[in-house]
Amino acid sequence: MTSLRVTIWNEFLHENSNEGVRAIYPDGIHTVIGQALKEHLGEQVQVRHATLVEPEHGLTDKVLTETDVMFWWGHMAHDQVRDEIVDKLHRRVLSGMGLVVLHSGHYAKIFRRLMGTECMLRWREAGEKERLWITAPGHPILTGIDGDYFELPQAEMYGEHFDIPEPDELILMSWFAGGEVFRSGCTFRRGQGKIFYFRPGHETYPIYFDPNIRRILANAACWAKSSGGNYQLDARHIPNPIA
Ligand code: ZN
Repeated sequence: MTSLRVTIWNEFLHENSNEGVRAIYPDGIHTVIGQALKEHLGEQVQVRHATLVEPEHGLTDKVLTETDVMFWWGHMAHDQVRDEIVDKLHRRVLSGMGLVVLHSGHYAKIFRRLMGTECMLRWREAGEKERLWITAPGHPILTGIDGDYFELPQAEMYGEHFDIPEPDELILMSWFAGGEVFRSGCTFRRGQGKIFYFRPGHETYPIYFDPNIRRILANAACWAKSSGGNYQLDARHIPNPIA
């Protein structure tokens, strides 16, 4: 039975313009992320896809209303996301929609709006090894991840300083072969919404086929869903005991 409604938003531009990316993700990064969720959550999860070129970027009021958790992958066209759609996304997060921001989504309009900072970072694309250290053992997003760390053989480097507000929780810290470190797994709350920023995912490496990454994506979908009904205007009305 479906209990978790996820919408995976993808620019879907690199896959159509770069042969190397198309070879890894012929049907788009969003479909591979969706498969990872299905692999771990089965019938519990309903997956929708939405992309930049669709009317309203695929994010109609109906889609937003019917989304418990949104995944966001964008890289080269953040400025093409229309401001009125960002306004609607922002309101949905504040009212309880979960948001999982992937990789270069650090610079998406919606993430910068929610953070209130520029969210800039250092970067280098040199196919370096990345070691992701677990800094919050037992965190629900890390369920099933064994050991003190896991590694990706090749990744784009992101390095500190990462211009974000202090996260509520820092659950993964990356080290790169070139020497930099980066806060790769960060949680935030804004209003009623739970937000998870998860760094890996550069399009020229098969990051979303990695078993640890896939498990974390599925865990994040479950974690980011609001418990629901936890914010009711009626609950704030305290009857006058004298009346
Ligand atoms: Zn990248």
